[in-house]
Amino acid sequence: MKTFEELGVSAEIRQAIEEMGYEYPMPVQEEVIPYLLGNRNDVVALAQTGTGKTAAFGLPLIQKIDVKNCVPQALILCPTRELCLQIAGDLTDYSKYITNLKILPVYGGSSIDSQIRSLKKGVHIIVATPGRLIDLMERKVARLETIQDVVMDEADEMLNMGFTESINAILEQVPEVIKAHEFMEHRIVHKGVVNHHKKGQHKEN
Ligand code: AMP
Repeated sequence: MKTFEELGVSAEIRQAIEEMGYEYPMPVQEEVIPYLLGNRNDVVALAQTGTGKTAAFGLPLIQKIDVKNCVPQALILCPTRELCLQIAGDLTDYSKYITNLKILPVYGGSSIDSQIRSLKKGVHIIVATPGRLIDLMERKVARLETIQDVVMDEADEMLNMGFTESINAILEQVPEVIKAHEFMEHRIVHKGVVNHHKKGQHKEN
């Protein structure tokens, strides 16, 4: 079993997660973290809730932020307000020892004015539900041309909920990212791989 240090996680982040009781990486973290810390790598991870996926994408995302440059550098899309708040809270905990890193959750059903004010002040990471983000983009306060990394958490859920068009409109504004339908093709291929492995294991037993 590898340590977070061996996976390449920075000292500031390690200090925060150690205080949260994370001793060793969970399997999805061990697989995904070194890969996402590399240059421009894409990952489709199929992981159940409770397996540590937030840290798997969250730790590399935080580590790659250039804090001195206060523009949106990472975008996390997710289907619900609850998940949005949970991810933003987890990321805030992981970045406790990174001074001045700004993470903003934006979601529907709450005052857009305070979200607009926060965006105008400057943020590094936006965690958003698709509908509210589109609204903020139309008002020209959420600008995505400086985004380097995009995470779609529970992507299948977002597509099932009918967010495909919104997601495509969002990704349209992000440099160099794949569209939702292409993403789903990737996912299907990977699902095939997962099933294939499962079958293989079954045969061996
Ligand atoms: P998640 O799948 O991201 O919702 O994470 C499930 C739970 O596991 C959360 O309470 C995390 O704080 C916790 N967790 C994530 N990674 C680790 C780890 N490496 N060691 C211990 N707990 C963890």
